[in-house]
Amino acid sequence: MIRIISFLTLLIFSPLTQSGAEVYSQSSFGYKPGEWTAFKFRKNKSINREVDISYRVVSGDTISSICRLFDVNQRDLLELNGLSVDHILQINQIIKLPPGSFYPSYFDPLTGARVQLSGGWVGTQKVKSDLPILLLAGHADSQGIPGSGTAGAAVDLLGARPMDKSMRDELYWNIKIRDAILKLGLQNGLNVRSYDPVQRTIVDENDLRTNWSVGSIHAQNGGYPLEIHFDAYGKYGFGSGLIPAISTKLNTVDESLARKFGRYPINFRDGLGAPRRNIRILEIGKLEGELENKLRNPESREQTINQIAWRVTKALIDGIESR
Ligand SMILES: [Zn+2]
Repeated sequence: MIRIISFLTLLIFSPLTQSGAEVYSQSSFGYKPGEWTAFKFRKNKSINREVDISYRVVSGDTISSICRLFDVNQRDLLELNGLSVDHILQINQIIKLPPGSFYPSYFDPLTGARVQLSGGWVGTQKVKSDLPILLLAGHADSQGIPGSGTAGAAVDLLGARPMDKSMRDELYWNIKIRDAILKLGLQNGLNVRSYDPVQRTIVDENDLRTNWSVGSIHAQNGGYPLEIHFDAYGKYGFGSGLIPAISTKLNTVDESLARKFGRYPINFRDGLGAPRRNIRILEIGKLEGELENKLRNPESREQTINQIAWRVTKALIDGIESR
């Protein structure tokens, strides 16, 4: 159990007019900052001081099971959320938790919240020891168009400058992590390479230069394409985890990544473009809170990138060696 003292989750207090269905294509979710009550309230605060935390309801939850999970008093929880004791929870409902609540294992000290959807699959197919792995940075070919990735909580909600104004922050970090995994993978004997489309805006997803086209061909040739992503912040993201390919042949590398990062269901969001092409999506974590702070802070940046990249590399090694 971990006590969280400075985990940032952006609770949205104002009624929202748009669903959170576009995890991969939100552009500040189409909101103007003024529509966010929480934004106005928090704008001038330091990122680190936030202690609000929230929980997304999953199937089977009850008020009392959530209280047990987080070790909080039922009356406090009901009062904080303005709920009555006979309230029926809805899946994906966001429940505010009192500051200082205990987090169960779904919170990871490095990558933050883990996906809490039921995965329901196990990767059992063996892979060759020289499995060709292709690393891709999510959204590397879709800047400035729908599907450009999350700008992150710091930029969208707290007024920070983008890391690189030519791209969304998610892509900036996706590239850093991709390159760090490549380096560690090669040092550790993996048959790994990376691909970058270079052209940052390719409108036709089936253009031969896109991540998806190159990844799809890699998969058809028996390789393992892995696209690195960070998830959206706040209630729009689900957390770290592997979104598997839409396939009945999930393998021990899928299994290993899911165990280290979390497990999304097959057919997540009715089959995203990448998984339909046999490309795996690894959500490193939600681009918010401590994870984003550690990446943005120049003093902790390199270490954080390396820690994340090593976790991925180790998962790849373990998955290949699992026989
Ligand atoms: Zn993404």
